[in-house]
Amino acid sequence: MVEIQKRQIVGQQDGPHLLITGGVHGDEFEPMQALRRLAKVVDTNALRGRLTLVPVANEAAFLRGTRTADDELDLARTCPGKPDGSITERTAHALSQLIRTADYYIDLHTGGTTMSVWPLVGYKLVPDQRMLTAQRRMARAFNLPVVWGTDYRLQGRTLSVARDANIPSIYAEYLGSGLCDAAGVEAYVEGCLNVLAELEMLDPNSLPHHPVTSRIQYEVDDHRESAGHMQIRNPSPHTGFFEPAVHLGQRIAAGDPLGDVTDPLGTRRTTVGSRESGIVIVLRTFSRVFEGDALAVVLETDLPPHEDHDA
Ligand SMILES: [Zn+2]
Repeated sequence: MVEIQKRQIVGQQDGPHLLITGGVHGDEFEPMQALRRLAKVVDTNALRGRLTLVPVANEAAFLRGTRTADDELDLARTCPGKPDGSITERTAHALSQLIRTADYYIDLHTGGTTMSVWPLVGYKLVPDQRMLTAQRRMARAFNLPVVWGTDYRLQGRTLSVARDANIPSIYAEYLGSGLCDAAGVEAYVEGCLNVLAELEMLDPNSLPHHPVTSRIQYEVDDHRESAGHMQIRNPSPHTGFFEPAVHLGQRIAAGDPLGDVTDPLGTRRTTVGSRESGIVIVLRTFSRVFEGDALAVVLETDLPPHEDHDA
């Protein structure tokens, strides 16, 4: 039995139940700090409904200082888990049960030890219009530069559990590289407060950063299968040292160099060209790479219009 440590803030008035989690991956620190701070900021007298905050969902991975626990299963691929499985399977089971108690759900991430992510908020492009509308509202309200709708069919995620239980849900990403960036913590606290206001759980006029100025620069819907799966993009051709040639937020064209992978003396050098045109939203920052590791994710901002096959 895995017990997930959580803080509950119960409002004086009735309203929905919002769950916010961090630390699904053990090496993602901004969300953990943001949720502890949020617990101090939200006043029970001002809150409508109930707020559940889980700063460190995957404690076994956090204590190890890595993305996963000892069994090396990715918690964000293992949901809904099982009650009698390995440590990650049991954590997935407990977390999935908690998710099913919520009316709305936010899952906060970063690029972890090895990657950095341009701030973005994502959601699944579910067929159910009521769910889709609620998720878009939450994602826009969260207020980061990129709002990204992706393949709803991906399995094993926390958001897959929410999807199957008809709970509107979003996730967010903000930098990473094993740091705990102060601006990231601040943006996450603000983002969560914005969603609380959007869901009418808090008075928008009471927000410390009111009025909110929009930071959204790109809104992209990508209906293609496995859109949003970041670990499979632009793989390294061989093991070595990665020297990036781009920075987060940079616009590049297909074929432009993402960077070089070199051997120890720098004599063998392979330039890796981007497979896509668009904005660099994820970049590897941990220099040692293995063959097949993702070096970067490029967000394609000019996709052709989606054809609805259900029509
Ligand atoms: Zn993560």
